Amino acid sequence: MNLKNQRFLITGIVQGVGFRPTVYLLAREHHLTGWVINTARGVEIEIHGTEEHCAAFTRSLRENPPALAKVDSFIVTDSPLRAYSEFEIRQSENRPEDFLPISPDLAICEACKNELFDPNNRRYRYPFINCTHCGPRFSIVRDIPYDRANTSMAGFSLCPDCLQEYHNPADRRFHAQPVACPVCGPEIWYEVSGERLFCGEEALAAARAAIRGGKILALKGLGGFHLACDARNATALKTLRERKHRTGKPFALMAFSLQTIEKYVQLTNQERELLTSPQAPIVLAEPTAAGREIARLAAPDRTRLGFMLPYTPLHLLLMKPEADFPEVLVMTSGNISEEPLAFQDDEARKRLRGLADAFLMHNRPIYMRVDDSVVAELRRKPYLLRRARGYSPGQLRIPRAGLPILGAGTQLKNTFCLAREQYAFVSHFIGDLENQETLDSYEQAVGHYEKLFRVHPQALACDLHPDYLATRYAQARSRQEDLPLTAVQHHHAHLVACLAANAWETDEPAIGLIYDGTGYGTDGSIWGGEILIGGYQNFERRFHLLPVPLPGGDLAVQKPARTALSWLDAAGIPAEEYHLPPNSALGDEEREVVRAQVKTGFNAPLTSSIGRLFDAAASVLGICHEITYEAQAAVALESAADLSEAGAYPIALEDGLIDPRMMLRELVRDLRAGVSIPILAARFHNSIVQVSIEACRIIRKETGLRHVAISGGVWQNMRMMRALLPALEAEDFIPLYHRALPTNDACVSLGQVMVALQSLRN
Ligand code: ZN
Ligand code: ZN
Ligand code: FE
Repeated sequence: MNLKNQRFLITGIVQGVGFRPTVYLLAREHHLTGWVINTARGVEIEIHGTEEHCAAFTRSLRENPPALAKVDSFIVTDSPLRAYSEFEIRQSENRPEDFLPISPDLAICEACKNELFDPNNRRYRYPFINCTHCGPRFSIVRDIPYDRANTSMAGFSLCPDCLQEYHNPADRRFHAQPVACPVCGPEIWYEVSGERLFCGEEALAAARAAIRGGKILALKGLGGFHLACDARNATALKTLRERKHRTGKPFALMAFSLQTIEKYVQLTNQERELLTSPQAPIVLAEPTAAGREIARLAAPDRTRLGFMLPYTPLHLLLMKPEADFPEVLVMTSGNISEEPLAFQDDEARKRLRGLADAFLMHNRPIYMRVDDSVVAELRRKPYLLRRARGYSPGQLRIPRAGLPILGAGTQLKNTFCLAREQYAFVSHFIGDLENQETLDSYEQAVGHYEKLFRVHPQALACDLHPDYLATRYAQARSRQEDLPLTAVQHHHAHLVACLAANAWETDEPAIGLIYDGTGYGTDGSIWGGEILIGGYQNFERRFHLLPVPLPGGDLAVQKPARTALSWLDAAGIPAEEYHLPPNSALGDEEREVVRAQVKTGFNAPLTSSIGRLFDAAASVLGICHEITYEAQAAVALESAADLSEAGAYPIALEDGLIDPRMMLRELVRDLRAGVSIPILAARFHNSIVQVSIEACRIIRKETGLRHVAISGGVWQNMRMMRALLPALEAEDFIPLYHRALPTNDACVSLGQVMVALQSLRN
């Protein structure tokens, strides 16, 4: 019998996911002695036993790691022969400079769900039930290693029963840091105007009664507060919209079970999987007839509805079906529009006072504010529209390592990105950096990530836009800490983010279809319809959309009718004579102002933004003339388009310009001839896809390049993505698109980091 010792180093998301107990049980099963320990590098194991047992253990662990683990590397080495008396789980170590990936927050697992509704279980109806496979993680971590003392559960000492489970390797709650029970854990209460009225079951009953009665409930959840109300109560929804100052923006919905959700949306298998995954995101799906009824109130101008399942025990208890209790609730983030999600009790009381009629609170503190994630299904996999709870702070492997660096990100849909060695930590969705509250939340999060992942930036990167708050933050830090700062062009960052996320290793350039709302160009004008050739090093602007004046600047972003008049003017189409919708959408006075602005260029900056062209088309077709949230017009245009229409209009490609004026003339001609809006909206989409492919063909002829990186907010338009990908492939191009990050500005911080690392190397 040959005895041997082996060492394992397993890295990736391997802590807080039940790795050590799995190893422990497996080692015992194979009669091995030794130890397992969480270190800042990952999980380290030493085993001692016969060769056969060692081999069986290795095979088994490699093939069946714990379900929630994400193994990056699995390194096995022989070590000097040494016997141990038993197999033990050793205390965590913490070396100050190491970092450790932290698991995102995970939705309640089936086992816990069963216990929650089992009257014989000691955690029956306990709102904070969790185990090694589920529950809060990232939102309650203060520092690493991930041990209870470093979480917001530190203040709750375990009762003897919980302690026993916590120390028993055969138990599902072995080393589950947030483990708790009604005896020793957090509790809930119901509060109105700062006064605590009920606790426990009475609090739940009161909260349910409030919702049943059409009230708006502020609910403290996992990563912050939600506002909840009956999704079919028109008065409640109207009140909620008014209070949130959110006139048109769609609300997320929650239902108790998949079955209920399927009454309202048609789900594919992949969408079902996404909904029931441990990430439990909001999934956008096509409504049924009953769903369209709800959409009228909850998501007025979009065809798809965003549903999620209850992902905490508290949600499940709140939503437990009962004849007179609404089966679909609006579950929207607890904030006034554009402000960050409230997550601390006092802050929530203050900020949500005017929004909610009552509060369902609990005393487990939240350390990191995290919104719900939003995904759509693309080619049988999740396509992230908002990356937050469940996905963040998952780290990305980047194809090139460099010094520790911070990418400050951009203004809208901000994220920041910290990188060290070959890892990048792209933050969860922070929001639009347009007010002090969001800026505070941003700075707080930067500090938290730096501490958690042990990144001490020695360099900084930011957007080229001098007025972005994130740019100013980076500039100030660069001065204070004397760090080099690289300003990166917005669309170059988009392109590079897409390359990096697709493990692009070479210095070779790729074609970039970067279609976006707004980004500061190297010439100081506003870019956004950019077909680039570029890599980490630099880029060339091969084609861009014909620039037109944006009458009133930001005002035109709010009012697509303004942009429409500008485009119609550029295309020589007489909007007034033809009585086109954007003409009548504006009052006489405003129309005159717009005309003057377009003519003189006064207060009308030039833009090549393709997002604005979508706005203009939506207005020309009479679909949307004024917006209340970003990309509203484009969403409405996408929703209007007839999926079966394949027609398109010509768009010229000449002298580096994408010139859609001919398309607009034909579009208006057909509009006046009475062609239906869904057909015209579809043709508009098809035309953009067609010209994109044509541009790629031209570039391939010139350069031989075949890889096409797709990035920018316009690509959150699923119709565009679903049309573009097969069209590229049919022509033998290789599309690269975003999976790990959203394609909108949330990916830009990663691109900034990659470009800066490259320029520092030179
Ligand atoms: Zn569980
Ligand atoms: Zn307990
Ligand atoms: Fe962008």
